[in-house]
Amino acid sequence: MTDKEQMSLFDLAPSEVPITELPKAEGVTESQPTKKAARSSKNITPAAIASVPVHERFASLDQLKEAACNCQKCPLAPTRTNVVVERGDRQAKILIIGEAPGEQEDLSGLPFVGKSGQLLDKILESVGFDTSKDIYICNTVKCRPPNNRVPTDIETTTCKPYLLEQIRLVDPKIILLTGATSLKSILGEKLGITKVRGQWYEWEERLVMPIFHPSYLLRNQSREQGSPKWLTWQDVKAVKAKYLEIIDTNLADDEEF
Ligand code: SF4
Repeated sequence: MTDKEQMSLFDLAPSEVPITELPKAEGVTESQPTKKAARSSKNITPAAIASVPVHERFASLDQLKEAACNCQKCPLAPTRTNVVVERGDRQAKILIIGEAPGEQEDLSGLPFVGKSGQLLDKILESVGFDTSKDIYICNTVKCRPPNNRVPTDIETTTCKPYLLEQIRLVDPKIILLTGATSLKSILGEKLGITKVRGQWYEWEERLVMPIFHPSYLLRNQSREQGSPKWLTWQDVKAVKAKYLEIIDTNLADDEEF
């Protein structure tokens, strides 16, 4: 695919997927960064401690999903239509964390299926990722905040054990944080997304990169060099390169045995 063809995927026709054709939630189909990868990452921060108490751990993602679907722990429970837990491959090497379900996600029970999600899929496809095989997608909170407001600290904190358990159970090599809320939830609140996007961090022995939220890209149409879309294109190319590096290193490690 040429550079021009790749960048052409960063635009989204308003009616590309009719709402009536959105998939409905059902059980998601079943399908450590290496030392080399960690050595070559930039801006390494000390690993945070993100342990979940034993009584809040799950034996499987199915168990986690069942618990979340019955969860009433925070103020978002009464107004949700569906609990939105996951989409993609539960064995993916890349895990993407968004902010919270929006209207389409709340109706379908799946994360990132509205316009932002469609754009996210196209961005990933532009560098050859298959979002049904290579990627696992979830949100910081599993229930839609009324009127799509930003989740409160109480809501994100209450829901965080589910997120941390998703990370533990999927065990991805790379985590992408889309937007400020997921950035705050995982890496801390002192960082601004515009300052840190595209940088690699090490967190809990995984490689983490903050990227712009696709809804921000929908509001910024320019594809000029230096624009949010252009910067995101650089970021997903870096993610693909790191992903291939990790795959290559794993293969080399396997051959040693
Ligand atoms: S957002 Fe999370 S903690 Fe709050 S009710 Fe939904 S699943 Fe439970």
